[in-house]
Amino acid sequence: MKNITIPTPLQGQTLEDKVRILTEGAKYDVSCSSSGSARQGKKGALGDCSPAGICHSFTPDGRCVSLLKILMSNECIYNCKYCASRREEDVERATLSVEELCEITVGFYRRNYIEGLFLSSAVFRSPDRTMELLTETVIRLRTQYNFHGYIHLKAIPGCDPQWLDLAAQYADRMSENIELPSSAGLKMLAPQKTKESILTPMKRLAALSARSKETRGRAKILPAGHTTQMIVGATADADGTILRLSEGLYRNYAMRRVYYSAYVPVGNPSLLPVKPPDLIRENRLYQADWLLRFYGFQAEELLNPAENFDPSIDPKSQWALTHPERFPVEVNTAPYEMLLRVPGIGIKSAWRIARAREVSTLRYEDLKRMGVVLRRAAHFITCDGKYHGCGENRAVLKSYLLAPAFANKDPNQISLTDAALLLQETKRSALTGQL
Ligand code: SF4
Repeated sequence: MKNITIPTPLQGQTLEDKVRILTEGAKYDVSCSSSGSARQGKKGALGDCSPAGICHSFTPDGRCVSLLKILMSNECIYNCKYCASRREEDVERATLSVEELCEITVGFYRRNYIEGLFLSSAVFRSPDRTMELLTETVIRLRTQYNFHGYIHLKAIPGCDPQWLDLAAQYADRMSENIELPSSAGLKMLAPQKTKESILTPMKRLAALSARSKETRGRAKILPAGHTTQMIVGATADADGTILRLSEGLYRNYAMRRVYYSAYVPVGNPSLLPVKPPDLIRENRLYQADWLLRFYGFQAEELLNPAENFDPSIDPKSQWALTHPERFPVEVNTAPYEMLLRVPGIGIKSAWRIARAREVSTLRYEDLKRMGVVLRRAAHFITCDGKYHGCGENRAVLKSYLLAPAFANKDPNQISLTDAALLLQETKRSALTGQL
């Protein structure tokens, strides 16, 4: 490996300044998105909260870990229109050296602030140079500092794949952002990036993840796989197109997760929408994503390429409403795959039903104990031959499936409190996948 030269700090910047600038710059990456709240410490209360820096992520075994979420540099040579770090944006700039990054990570770890690192970067000087510095950081952390905590490392589009091969031996997870749902969007808003420059490293990461699965025992290369993130609402691409792309990424690139990030208007407004999309759109995409990964749905069943999800109901209910010929299903005999398609029956409850009906005939009262949301499911099932739903009238049926914030209301006129409730509800199911 070539010798690493440490970049010269901008005039007069302290380490604290750099950490503030670079943790602030990292907050737009949603792969671990819980940073962002700001709370001053106060008398009698324990702790305080800074707007960026420490975020939380979940390991494959379900543990929640706190990560230092930081950029190595926000001095970008690229000019993606939607980005706060783009070359033409007037923001404070900073770059941390490999040594500084290692010292900060290990220092925070020793003080028990963090259990791991989420390290990303703008394109500093060149994609190769950036990836070289990021790789050097993880190697030093692992070998020189003996750091065994979790490391999530960004792959830089357009870099030489040799850096990915090397970095993958030391990071737990790597990710590379697909950025926008279409090549046309990329050309318009991120002209220095091409579909090719993004998909080639992604293919490499998929091959590396696959190779790690072949090793016996604990995987040595990228044990937590690789992920990506897509910006929603910066271009006119509809949910149907976005979902097809996600399906392709899961299928062809062994992607562990696709993250959806509602566009934040920080960039050049002349080419971008003035207003960000409703967060509900992001949540509906997360719900649909669960349907692709765990409920046996295909993207083409859920939406046409030019369609968006109905914000007032979840995607599974939307599908059920448009397929009355598939319902009601008898819970005691329906195939497991069909149970998963009933609104209000999530993965856990479908599994419980499948187990319980092996030993006795299930009655309506039994379902509630199994976690079935009968308010929604009752209209799509029979239980021991009995139906407790409202019938087939689509408008009436939809009124039972509406999120509580929308019930009995014109969806165009919901109040701020209703909208907050709706977001809370969709966020919960978007996170847990119980639909
Ligand atoms: S490459 Fe594009 S998205 Fe990444 S930091 Fe630079 S301007 Fe932002």
